[in-house]
Amino acid sequence: MSTTATEAQQAIDSRDTVIIYSGGMDSYTLLREEHFKGRIHSALAFYYGQRHRRELECVIRVCYTLAIHYSIIDLWDVAACTMRDSALTNDRHHMPVGHYADESMKKTVVPNRNMIMLSIAIAYAVSNQLKRVVFGAHTGDHTIYPDCRPGFVIGMNSLAAIANWHPVRVEAPYLHLTKAQILARGIAAGVERFAYLDTWTCYEGGRKACGQCGSCTERLEAFAAVDWEDPLSYVKRS
Ligand SMILES: [Zn+2]
Repeated sequence: MSTTATEAQQAIDSRDTVIIYSGGMDSYTLLREEHFKGRIHSALAFYYGQRHRRELECVIRVCYTLAIHYSIIDLWDVAACTMRDSALTNDRHHMPVGHYADESMKKTVVPNRNMIMLSIAIAYAVSNQLKRVVFGAHTGDHTIYPDCRPGFVIGMNSLAAIANWHPVRVEAPYLHLTKAQILARGIAAGVERFAYLDTWTCYEGGRKACGQCGSCTERLEAFAAVDWEDPLSYVKRS
């Protein structure tokens, strides 16, 4: 094999990772970091009955721009019988405002969401002989989302190891980082401020982000912490 062909093969072989990419700012930062490293094979996004599709529109735009292969997996039938009682999927619930740590934010829990998505991503990795599944859980999620905690990630790795012949690692590189620290990682990696226009964090799906929901609140605090102005438009910045 010629040197050029060898280098090309090595570049292909370095793409050992499938990422669960929601279109939000955390998984976007992770996508960009892994993309800079040349490790992204594919991105998986999921439709599980979210009240809006703003995040998924970001997924399509970003993956198209970066030439990343992606799939949006339709979990509607699964969601219809398992995920309909969350404020994220059922508009009968009033969307809570405040911080993730607030008790009222438990309304935004979607039952077993990460286990379902990771199971599919692990199967995708096995099918494509990939080594890693990465997702963007972070420390701010721990309080109300049990499937974003370290014990869950350890458990999923144990299950992945015994459920398949092909070894797949499940990694959450931001597991012990705050949203502000994730944004700082993005800056350090070279992600431009205006690139975050192609991310959607708000639980609501308006033309502008609401600026009041828990997700908007944490996002705005993260941008303030790194001394960046969030390029997104808001109805009202909390
Ligand atoms: Zn919002």
